[in-house]
Amino acid sequence: MRLTTAQNDRAAGVLLATAAGDALGAGYEFTYPTPETAIRMIGGGLGPFAPGEWTDDTSMALAIAEVSATGADIGAGDGLDAVAAGFARWYASGPKDIGNQTCAVLSTAQPTAASMTERARALPGRKGGNGSLMRTAPVGIAYLADGERCVAAARDISRLTHDDPEAVEACMLWSFAIRHAVLHGTFDGVDAGLETLPGDAARRWSTLLDDARTASDPRVFDNNGWVVHALQTAWWAVCHADATGPGHLPQALELAVRAGRDTDTTAAIAGGLLGARWGASAVPAQWQRILHGWPGYRSQHLVRLALRTAWAGAGDDRHRPDAEIDYAQFLVEE
Ligand SMILES: [Mg+2]
Repeated sequence: MRLTTAQNDRAAGVLLATAAGDALGAGYEFTYPTPETAIRMIGGGLGPFAPGEWTDDTSMALAIAEVSATGADIGAGDGLDAVAAGFARWYASGPKDIGNQTCAVLSTAQPTAASMTERARALPGRKGGNGSLMRTAPVGIAYLADGERCVAAARDISRLTHDDPEAVEACMLWSFAIRHAVLHGTFDGVDAGLETLPGDAARRWSTLLDDARTASDPRVFDNNGWVVHALQTAWWAVCHADATGPGHLPQALELAVRAGRDTDTTAAIAGGLLGARWGASAVPAQWQRILHGWPGYRSQHLVRLALRTAWAGAGDDRHRPDAEIDYAQFLVEE
């Protein structure tokens, strides 16, 4: 499959807008910004984050993208092991913040897919945190030529740390929607992705999506550290901003942050889909210029990893993994 210029822009936007939402929400985590508060990339929050710095959400997504960008199959075998090793490497770097559930797995598992999956399965108690949904965006561009493999990989990468059925289903649905948005430039994949879910999950998620679409106040999904409310908050923000043009992207990210509580994560989740729909060119230049984070990356690195992933996943033979490409051309100034 040969990607068009518009599809390349949209693929390039997936990680960039994930990071933009993450860095925008970072300074407001576990707060409820007042209507008078201007939402900016102020840094701070739960860790000593600098303005424009992304947090664990994007860093873990990048651990996945580092592998997918090589053309490896991240959903199985050596590729899934490499993703697990990437998570372990990020954990060993001493991250400024980390979710409880992810920490419980990464602090005790070996750096292999089998060990992490087993640790995640063995964890007791409630396990439906949003920590696998927040990092699933690169899976959406890793299989542009094959929707079934995209969804299967989203499932198995979630299970490295989050085996809860709702966490797994959310990753499958959102990854499918991101893939669909890159290919077609619409949000229709959110509903179309319901068909990929197991058992009666499609009916349940259909109702949950409708609730988000029609809610006037996001406080009804306030428990957004839980994967279901996190996805609903992100979808609520996407559905309640003006979607008539690319200004939808920054506007919806701001709404996700204003919804409060786990703001970096809900905005990162929304960002993956918004970037897939509107492209790198819709991420405001003043954000592109200051975005940075683990492992010492800036905006152009996110674009590079996203495009490499998309080209490998599309089987686009114009772009071999070793080709020299000027990635700055995909970063569009305002
Ligand atoms: Mg975070």
